[in-house]
Amino acid sequence: MNRPSLTRRELVALVGVGAGTLVLGKSLVGTDIVARRGAVAWGEVAPAPLSSTGPATAEPAASAAPEAPRPGASDVTGSANAGSADSAAPATSALAYDDLPWNLRLINRAHPLPEDFPKPALRELPSGYAVDERIYDATQAFMKAARKASHEPVVCSAYRSHEKQRDLYRARVRQSKAEGKRGQAAKDDAAFWVAPPYASEHEAGIALDLVDAAYQELDEKQEKTKTQRWLMKHCADYGFILRYPTDKSATTGIGYEPWHYRYVGEEAARAITASGLCFEEWIDQYLNQS
Ligand SMILES: [Zn+2]
Repeated sequence: MNRPSLTRRELVALVGVGAGTLVLGKSLVGTDIVARRGAVAWGEVAPAPLSSTGPATAEPAASAAPEAPRPGASDVTGSANAGSADSAAPATSALAYDDLPWNLRLINRAHPLPEDFPKPALRELPSGYAVDERIYDATQAFMKAARKASHEPVVCSAYRSHEKQRDLYRARVRQSKAEGKRGQAAKDDAAFWVAPPYASEHEAGIALDLVDAAYQELDEKQEKTKTQRWLMKHCADYGFILRYPTDKSATTGIGYEPWHYRYVGEEAARAITASGLCFEEWIDQYLNQS
């Protein structure tokens, strides 16, 4: 296997980690959501677009349908373990976070994976990194389309074990301490860039960090590359969203990551992209539709 060992980008930049801290006190209050479990209607989600979500994500993909998936659509299974189908929610039952189908599962510090979360069934990409087998085809189609458009995306992270995530987080805490932060402040600072174990989408195998072959640094300049701009514009067509937009850090709890793509399925990706909401905000609305 030609998977790079813990890459320089992961160890040195230490920012290519996807997970968020749900910042309570904004519009997202988990207990409220649970208390107000209501029937979900896909067609009612994502009403008022907010302002820009970033230089490229602000513009929905050209072919993105502004309309959210409907209950009963052909690929709506309503099952949390629905094989390779892009599951949307059941049309008739109430939902809470724990009921979300695998492709819509919210994973962040406020909603970590359970400690007994099983290792996903993985399939190795040509790069040597692995993803949940259910997103393999979508990932390959995404990469193939990018290359066909004369871009050169490079996968620099995908699935990570809990242990690897733990090591990355601990390393980032040490960096924060070296920068003068102490105690909880060091942990909070680290978690803005690297999720603690069980709080990263990478541990579920449904996230990818993608960079331009010509510029492989994980910093904000990544968004300026032609490859990254193409990926941002077209990711929804392949079921992915840019998970940590530039103006959503206060809600996601994660710094701007113009390289971290999360799989949610095509219909949800198009709806989320068209909404201008970040995933925490969109899920909040989704669960509260009645
Ligand atoms: Zn990532």
